[in-house]
Amino acid sequence: MKKTASAFAASMLALGLSFAGSALAQDYPTKPITVVVPFSAGGPTDTVARLVAEVMSQDLGQQVVVQNVGGAGGTLGAGQVATAPNDGYTLLLHHIGMSTAPTLYRSLPYDPTTDFAPIGLITAVPMTLVARKDFEPNTLAEMMDYIKANGENVTYAHAGIGSASQLCGMLLMDALDAQMTTVPYQGSGPAMTDIIGGQVDMICDQTTNTTSQIQASEVKAYGVTSLNRLGNLPDLPTTKEGGLDLEIGVWHGLYAPAGTDPAIVERLEASLKVALANETVVSRFAELGTYPVTADEATPEALTQTLASQIELWRAVIEAAGVYAD
Ligand code: ASP
Repeated sequence: MKKTASAFAASMLALGLSFAGSALAQDYPTKPITVVVPFSAGGPTDTVARLVAEVMSQDLGQQVVVQNVGGAGGTLGAGQVATAPNDGYTLLLHHIGMSTAPTLYRSLPYDPTTDFAPIGLITAVPMTLVARKDFEPNTLAEMMDYIKANGENVTYAHAGIGSASQLCGMLLMDALDAQMTTVPYQGSGPAMTDIIGGQVDMICDQTTNTTSQIQASEVKAYGVTSLNRLGNLPDLPTTKEGGLDLEIGVWHGLYAPAGTDPAIVERLEASLKVALANETVVSRFAELGTYPVTADEATPEALTQTLASQIELWRAVIEAAGVYAD
């Protein structure tokens, strides 16, 4: 009897909690939301996050605050969100690294496919191969020859194993069958500062971090990793045109921790769509050589599907290159 009564009490409690849960979802958000960017401030992922967060703040009526948690190629910040409370107040804005980390890190402390509730894709950004402005080679062909001839004397900056710049560098070295000396940073914002300052030779990074520097001639640019040339960098050849077999687009997604109330995920998805249709976001993205995804891609389904297929795609490439973080 006692057992039945306490079971009843427990189920009432559960019922009460579930009522409380949906009431919470209805009122959501009632306090500021943190979006973790797993790289330094001032870099390309940070740029995308801050543009989107500003409009989401207006739409949600609460501050959406970007927090930079750089380190270990984005896996530190992602790991932090994987174990954060799943109440909709801690989110993750990450990129293609969500799909490369499971292969690069054999002991990754989180599972990208089960520890997160995907909210939606955001944008896909091409990458550019750039160098300090007094780096000797002037064209993509010269740059390839230079790396082949000078190998480890060339320094290549990246944002840690698991970052897009590391992935692009790995593909470049693989394509040239050469090895450069890699210099890791907590994000490509600080890496770009060192390229401009001449402390490191080159990087492959998203146009969101390189377009203005290329336009201002602060760096030397060799090629863009998209299939077609970019409207705002018309003189920059594609890697394919330059005879380099390296094509890559860096996609970004927004995630909550797994188990987040579906009503909260839905609210965030709607808000993300508002941000991606916002005129300022669209025009700033365009200036940076990127375009928001369409509304049917800014969805949990599209992000889930992209993540799964990209994990498979990069697994094969990384295993063939034999590069691992641990
Ligand atoms: N673009 C960087 C990367 O290489 C990360 C960043 O700082 O946003 O992945």
